[in-house]
Amino acid sequence: KRREVGAQEHGIDPSLVDERALNVVHTLKEAGYEAYIVGGAVRDLLLGLRPKDFDVATNATPEQVKGLFRRAFIIGRRFRIVHVVYGRGREHEVIEVSTFRAYMDNAAAEQVAGNEKTSRSELAGMKHAVDASGRVLRDNVWGPQEEDATRRDFTINAMYYDPETQTVVDYHGGIKDAKKRAIRMIGDPLTRYREDPVRLIRAVRFCAKLNGLGFSLESKTRAPLIECLSLLADVPQSRLFDEMLKLLQTGHSLATVEQLKALGLAEGIYPLLDLVVERAESSFVKAALQDTDRRVGEGKPVAASFLLSCVLWSDVRDGWAGRLARKEHPFPALQGAIDDVFDARIGDVSGRGKLGADMREIWMMQPRFEKRVGQTPFTLVEQPRFRAAFDFMRLRADIGEIDVVLADWWQEFSLASDDLREDLVAQLR
Ligand code: ATP
Ligand code: MG
Repeated sequence: KRREVGAQEHGIDPSLVDERALNVVHTLKEAGYEAYIVGGAVRDLLLGLRPKDFDVATNATPEQVKGLFRRAFIIGRRFRIVHVVYGRGREHEVIEVSTFRAYMDNAAAEQVAGNEKTSRSELAGMKHAVDASGRVLRDNVWGPQEEDATRRDFTINAMYYDPETQTVVDYHGGIKDAKKRAIRMIGDPLTRYREDPVRLIRAVRFCAKLNGLGFSLESKTRAPLIECLSLLADVPQSRLFDEMLKLLQTGHSLATVEQLKALGLAEGIYPLLDLVVERAESSFVKAALQDTDRRVGEGKPVAASFLLSCVLWSDVRDGWAGRLARKEHPFPALQGAIDDVFDARIGDVSGRGKLGADMREIWMMQPRFEKRVGQTPFTLVEQPRFRAAFDFMRLRADIGEIDVVLADWWQEFSLASDDLREDLVAQLR
């Protein structure tokens, strides 16, 4: 089944390949190992897109990989992978290197989990935790490239590219499916969704991401989605939360909402996601989604806190108004309203300290934008979350919730020199 495809057929533009990824592959091959760019990067290259990150797959173990690079770190307990780091600070780039892994169906994984002294020879990572389902173990049993391909999710995500010979290695007809614009699960879809229900969220993600290029889910891949929805109940909340965020940060969040509706998944993946779908029609949330898509499109970073604070703003605002009507003081009233929203909507994943703290700050800064006296504007503009809170306020102004003049004033103030800032405050008197 293995097919090696040359440059004339796949047509990948080598200039789209990151030179650090090239360097990682080169170094590994030089040392006598197999090494390829793999997964989403190959898919994107094949489609003429510049991949946002590059993963490399190799038959070297994490320890062997680490030994070949000056700055390389073995990370992860579940998946032991190596981060090879280039450059420093904001400009730094991480190439993720993973060792080819074996494909085990559920039965095989349980067998391995039940018998620690398994006969499979190439096991590294065995000293790491074993869990009852065998999942942790399964993810860390090394295997040949062919099995590494088979354990992946969709055919278009399971190709390997050697940037030196410019060859694509394709075991599952990924090139053909890319031409046909089909997102097809490797193997039997129902079995693969059962094995890892998060794949159904991934199906939606790739569908939305590639929809503009004419891709859609192949019918057998699509058919079991709804019946598999209930399987998500067994997935840890934190993983669902992360997948939900990825879904909203593909740069195609409005397309994602449309896909969710079209696929009958508007409800049931994750409560907060249901809410996003429900509110995507509201001008405020829609503006936030559009803004997120635009930023991703421009290659700018996006913060989950910003998007989620937009999605939940109407709850905060209504709760706040209710408390004000009951004569609570404005700041404690806002604080109380925010606490209520966290309890009601975020609940279990509130362990995400930073995300929650950022959302809280964005909301808590809103009333302060209206107090433009004395030192207040000068302190506010220095807050680390000023930019996010300002962008949020700008969206509120765009939908007519507050005066556009206020947003313009802050825009000018934030960009102004110190002298000009004094003038801007003085003019208000
Ligand atoms: P993106 O461009 O959005 O990052 P990606 O395809 O790179 O998309 P990742 O989540 O970064 O997606 O995963 C990298 C690769 O790992 C995938 O292309 C796929 O081959 C494999 N993979 C990731 N998650 C799963 C999963 N749950 N089941 C099977 N294979 C997976
Ligand atoms: Mg990726």
